[in-house]
Amino acid sequence: MRRIARRVPLAIPLVWSDVHRDHAPTLQTVDGQVYDHPEVPDRPRLIRDALVQAGLVRSVAPTAHDDAGVDAVHDPAYRAFVRGACTELDPRASLIPPRISFDRGVLRHPDLGMRASYYAFGQDAPLTRATYRAAREAVDIALTGVDVMRQGAGDVFALCRPPGHHAEHARMGGFCYFNNAVIAAHALSAGGRAALLDVDYHHGNGSQHLTYERADVLYVSLHADPRYAYPGFSGAADERGRGAGQGFNLNLPLPPHTRIEAYLDALDRACGAIADFDPRALVVSLGFDTHEEDPIAILGLTSQDFGRVAERIAALPVPRLHVLEGGYALHRLGESAAAYVQGLADGRAPLREPPPSP
Ligand SMILES: [Zn+2]
Repeated sequence: MRRIARRVPLAIPLVWSDVHRDHAPTLQTVDGQVYDHPEVPDRPRLIRDALVQAGLVRSVAPTAHDDAGVDAVHDPAYRAFVRGACTELDPRASLIPPRISFDRGVLRHPDLGMRASYYAFGQDAPLTRATYRAAREAVDIALTGVDVMRQGAGDVFALCRPPGHHAEHARMGGFCYFNNAVIAAHALSAGGRAALLDVDYHHGNGSQHLTYERADVLYVSLHADPRYAYPGFSGAADERGRGAGQGFNLNLPLPPHTRIEAYLDALDRACGAIADFDPRALVVSLGFDTHEEDPIAILGLTSQDFGRVAERIAALPVPRLHVLEGGYALHRLGESAAAYVQGLADGRAPLREPPPSP
C-alpha cells in the first residue's frame, strides 16, 4: 500500500484578491484564427472557493510592493508602456496587437496597436483598460507570498491572475504580461540560490528567457513537447542555459497524452536536479492545464493525480511558493487544486505513528 493514512493538512497561506476580475478579454488570436479567451476571471475564484471550503487554506490579502521588483526582471520601459496603453483604452476595448515582434526596430508608430506589437511575441495577450492593474496586482500577490515565506511558512499558494510564465523581459504573450514566478524567484535569490519548477502544460518560454544566463536561479520545466504544443519555439531538451547559466536550465518535454506514471518519472528527474542544486527556496509555476479534460491541452492527468505531483514536490526539504499559471477546465480546477494542497501535506515527512481514528 502506497500510503497508510492521509495527513491532516495544516491550512497553508493562500494569497489572493479580486482586483483581477475586470481584466476579462473575450477574444484572442492564435495562428490567424480568432478564439474565445479561456483565461477567465472565474479561474482563481473556483480554486479559492474549493480550497476554503475544504479547510485547506487561510486567506492572506496581498500588500502593495513598489515597482522595483518588477523592474528588476522586466524592462522598465515595457512596464511603463503596458501601464500607459491600458489607461488609453476604452473600458470595453480589447486590444490585440496586429503584429508580433521578433527583431525590433524603433517604437515610434502613431498607432497604439502597432506600439503594442513592439512589446508582443504573440497575439494572445490582449490589453484592456484593467490589464495593467490586474497584472501588477498579480505581482503583489507573488511578492506577498515571498514575504509570508520569509516569516517561516513552508508552503504558500499565490493565486496569481493573469499568469506570468510566458512573459519575457520586454514582451507579453500567452495570456501573460509580468512574470510573477520569476519576479518571486528573483526576490528570493537575494537570500541564496532559488529553484523554479514549472509544471504548467506549456513551456515557460518567458521564465527560461529570464533565467537562461543565471547560475543562481535554476529553471526546470515539465511540459508538452514544443513540436506539438504552444509556444513551439522553446522548450527543447537541449536548451541547457548559456554563459554563467550553462547547465542551470533543464527542459523535460513530454509526449502527447502522457499519463501520471510517466509524468512522475519525469518529475522525479526534475526533483533530483533541484535536490542536487540545493536551493534555499523553491518557486513552483503551477498550471492545471496538464489535466486530461483541459480544453486547450492534451496531457492525461486526472484531478487526483495533482495530489501525487504535490507529494513529490513536498518531499523537497525547502520552503515552497506555489504560483498559479494556467488551467482552463473550469469544472476541474477546484478539485485539482484541493488534491494538490492535500498532497503537499501527504508528501511531508511520514508520520511516526498513525493518526487517531475518527
Ligand atoms: Zn499553460
